[in-house]
Amino acid sequence: MKLGIVKESRDPRVAIVPDTLSKLSALSVSVIMEAGAGDESFFSDNDYVGATVLSRDEVLKQADIIVTFNPLSQEEWKLVNQNAIMISQFAPFADAEAVPSLLKEGKKAFSMDMIPRTTLAQSMDVLSSMASIAGYQAVLVAAAKLPRYLPMLITAAGSIKPSKVLILGAGVAGLQAIATAKRLGAIVEVFDTRMAVKEEVQSLGGKFIEVEGAKDDKSAGGYAVEQTEEFLARQRAEVQARAIKSDIIITTAQVRGRKAPILLEKETVNQMRAGSVIIDLASSTGGNCELSKDNETIVVNGVTIIGNSQLPAQMPQDASFLYSNNVLNFLKTMVREGTLHADFNNEIIKGACITPELFV
Ligand code: NAD
Repeated sequence: MKLGIVKESRDPRVAIVPDTLSKLSALSVSVIMEAGAGDESFFSDNDYVGATVLSRDEVLKQADIIVTFNPLSQEEWKLVNQNAIMISQFAPFADAEAVPSLLKEGKKAFSMDMIPRTTLAQSMDVLSSMASIAGYQAVLVAAAKLPRYLPMLITAAGSIKPSKVLILGAGVAGLQAIATAKRLGAIVEVFDTRMAVKEEVQSLGGKFIEVEGAKDDKSAGGYAVEQTEEFLARQRAEVQARAIKSDIIITTAQVRGRKAPILLEKETVNQMRAGSVIIDLASSTGGNCELSKDNETIVVNGVTIIGNSQLPAQMPQDASFLYSNNVLNFLKTMVREGTLHADFNNEIIKGACITPELFV
């Protein structure tokens, strides 16, 4: 069985890293690759020992499994072998056209971002792999932009107060941001609507701020549910009181399949101290800050607002390493001795397959 990887368009990450090749070989899967596929993640073709380097078109034509980080363009689907399967992140939650287009073209697809977030599937959870990098990067990007220190310092020239970091949303990204900001010596305050994260926040050294009356639903699979407008207004007022005293705000609050809630209003930003930094990791789903613009950095009243949901792409080597492992662990559930056995009674396979109609 041949697994194909190609150079990603507009993304420095690569779907499979050299380390994974020997593990794929144990499943009787060989790798064919486009020349330079790993270059931007700093993996050279020579690092892929045992892989066959071909033209992009040949990889698409010959592969039984095509693994990409972002979906191929629809024009390229036509080059892919009709019996091949594509593994990528099709984001059907955000892109309503993804599944109908695949079905129309008769392309079998598994979407890594649809793998259920259960204990059994933890090693395949690409959302967690990338969110964790995003939280870490968010603190580093903010710290580099901030015209002030994060830690408290007592120097001969005077004392520096520690910076305050406010984190909105304590999912995977938020928790990693707390840990990173604490390591840099900041004081960290945190909001989340899920009370389940309170202890985790506290164990990382963050202060958990409670807003009464949040809706929580155990049947949402651990995800947050949409809150009432009345609750959000109360929350915004609470957030404002903390935000105007914060040096850095990192927003990560998302509700799966919905627009992100607005938690930081224009008036709040206007009252923040000049030089402060906001990183909006939810910008691709509308953003948590009223002013943020996706993929843009703007400055309002001296406050820098960075709207970026793609921060993991700025750390491509480890991001690729983690994605590659996530894919390998997923393949282990359905590849035996170089043959695909997609058992749809397996919750992980069932969840990830977005075109089950094409498997009957
Ligand atoms: P996410 O990206 O969907 O959301 C980020 C955070 O924003 C969440 O913690 C959410 O509660 C919070 N949020 C939403 N609305 C908010 C509001 N109005 N104010 C403040 N915060 C708000 O979350 P995620 O990081 O993808 O994690 C989603 C869930 O999946 C979590 O319960 C997480 O623990 C769980 N999870 C489970 C596993 C596993 O068991 N394998 C792995 C990873 C994540």
